[in-house]
Order: sequence, then C-alpha cells, then structure tokens
Amino acid sequence: MYSIDDLKKYDYFNNIDFTYALDSLTGVLSRANILGFAKQLVETNFPFTMAIMDIDNFKLVNDNYGHMVGDGCLKYVAEKLALYVGEDGLVGRFGGDEFIILYFKSTKYDDVHEFLEGLLNDGKVVRRKISVGNVKFYVTATIGCATFPNDAKNYDDLFIIADKALYRGKTKGRNCFIIYVEAKHKNIEIYRKEQVTLHNAFSRISEFVNNDKRTINERIKYILDFVADYLQISEAALLLNNKTIYTSGDGYQCNVDDDCLKIFEKLTAHNNIFIPENLHNYQNDEKMNKFIQDKKIITFIVAKISISKKVYGYIILFEEKITRIWQENDKALLIYLGKVFEILHYKDMLK
Ligand code: GH3
Ligand code: MG
Repeated sequence: MYSIDDLKKYDYFNNIDFTYALDSLTGVLSRANILGFAKQLVETNFPFTMAIMDIDNFKLVNDNYGHMVGDGCLKYVAEKLALYVGEDGLVGRFGGDEFIILYFKSTKYDDVHEFLEGLLNDGKVVRRKISVGNVKFYVTATIGCATFPNDAKNYDDLFIIADKALYRGKTKGRNCFIIYVEAKHKNIEIYRKEQVTLHNAFSRISEFVNNDKRTINERIKYILDFVADYLQISEAALLLNNKTIYTSGDGYQCNVDDDCLKIFEKLTAHNNIFIPENLHNYQNDEKMNKFIQDKKIITFIVAKISISKKVYGYIILFEEKITRIWQENDKALLIYLGKVFEILHYKDMLK
C-alpha cells in the first residue's frame, strides 16, 4: 500500500521509523501516525478535513464468514480507499473497522461533499460486492467528517465532532456520509447501546407478552418496537390475514399493507420462514420487483403464523436502508416471535 516514497514528501515522516509507520494488516498509516499527522496539521495551522469511516455491520462479516474473510474485507476497503484519496490526502486505520481520512485539498462544504459523494457513490470503495476467498458480499460504510479550523480549533474537538457526525450517520441508518454542521449537530449525544443478549431479548419479550396491565395492542406494539430497536432494523411488523397491521415506530417506513399478504403467502408456502440471501435473487420476478420498489425495501425476513396448518398472518422484519446480512440471531428471534404470536392467536387474543 503506502510506500516510503509516497510518504517521504511529507515533513512529518522525516523523523518516523518506517517499520512502524503502517498498519500491519491493511498497509495504510497506523493509528499513531494518522493521528500524529493530524495533530501536526493542527499545530502548524494547516486547514484540512478529517473524516472517520466505519464499515457497516462489519461484525456480521466476521460472524458469517469468519475473521480471515473479515481481515480480507478490511484490506480490500483500505486499499480502495487509499487509491480513491490518492494524493489529495492520507488514510490510516484508527482500529477495528474504522479508518481516518485526512483530506488536505479543501475544507469548503461543497468540495468536501463532492469528495465524499464520489467515495460512496461510484462503487469504487464501498457500495459494492467484494470477493474475499470464495465468498462474495456487499459492503457499505458510514462516514462522519469535520473541518479544521472552521469547525474546531484543536485536535481533540475536531475528533469529537467528526465522531458525532459518524454517529448521526449510523443512527440515520448507515451507508451515508454526514458533514458536521454546528447548527444541526452540536447537540448530538453519543449513546452507546447496552448489549442485550439473545436470551435476554427472549425474556424481555415474554415479560411484555404476559404484562396484563397493558392491553393486547399495547403489548404487541412494545414487542415490535423492542425488536426493531434491538436488531437496529427499519421496521418490525405483524400482518394478520384479516388485514390488521401492527408495526414498530410510526409504521410509515416500509408501508406494510394488505397487498403484502399474497407475497408473503407465496414466500412461506414451503417453509415457515423465508430468508432471502438478499432480494437481488428476485430481480426477474415481476410481482416481487414491484413490491420491493413500491415499499422501498432492501431486504426482509418473514415468518408465518400458523396453527395446525391454518395460516393466521405473518411477522416481518424489514430493512429499507442497508443490505443487511441476516444473522442466526435475527432468524432465531423471528422464529421466536412467530411462536409468541401463534400462542396469542391460540389464546384468542389476536383480533
Ligand atoms: P456498525 O454498522 O454500527 O459499525 O456495526 P459493526 O458491526 O461494524 O460494529 P463495530 O464497528 O462496532 O464492529 C467492529 C467489529 O470489528 C468488532 C470486531 O469484532 C471487529 N474487528 C476489529 N478488529 C478486527 C480485525 O482486525 N479483523 C477482523 N476480522 N475483525 C476485526
Ligand atoms: Mg462498523
């Protein structure tokens, strides 16, 4: 990746031992050096833009394909990123799946916008399928950035606000970039979610189901909200054959409506649950295409609610923003939810 010649032209590297200058996995700058470089830019009052890029749902790559493939993915993204940035900046690995880009060319909003849009939109770095060994998967990333000295007067503040912008991008649904704008972003509080294990999620759901201080509608709403939040998906929905629809949040995300019934019936005709690897598999299916386009869905998984072969409805987990690779935990939770709603139906509590 970066060679001695690439780096020699910067004064910063005159006093640096090249053996340790690069990140050993990816070959972009090490954490110490990308941060050291940024600090030096601040000290010398050189205007620049600092962007933090974090791969979306990278844990799923490790979980689904193993750490070797995860490593391959990091190498691939680092290489493409350094190529894209070229001589207009420098790239380093902050740690894990996070990269830092120092962009020297401009700190003007429009230029930075163009730079980041090119990075995300042309499929040169991310928003593309990549092959590692014999697996292929789709990679996206989220970027937050801020400029020196416009947005922050010192290095620590610059990092904090770029990180806030990244956080906003993640909470907006990932696969996007956010340029820090004080008026919009200064009040962002970074909230690190508590880690809820799957068995905790199951017991929380059973508590909601059995909470007889709440009406049945309230309990269903709680469960769907909890699941959407726990899995960080766009929407969880329950659609009954009598066309009653319950959704998490305000329900407008994926527009579940009774048109969906026929599609779900088809998808779950042979199995209780349907898990597309991703919906690209349905590119030639006209009805499915129309459905996906109308609902602006990227991917979803469905479980059938049925008792003694009679179908009563479906539970659906939707993602409208990212190409999520559904994990074993997601599927286990979906099956569990299917059972919960079957029991509610059996007890005659679902109307
Ligand atoms: P998000 O979209 O919120 O960023 O989700 P995420 O799954 O990408 O979560 P996060 O960025 O927190 O996860 C980073 C993961 O990267 C956690 C850790 O297991 C993995 N990781 C960290 N360093 C390495 C590495 O050197 N190689 C591999 N294969 N995985 C790593
Ligand atoms: Mg990540």
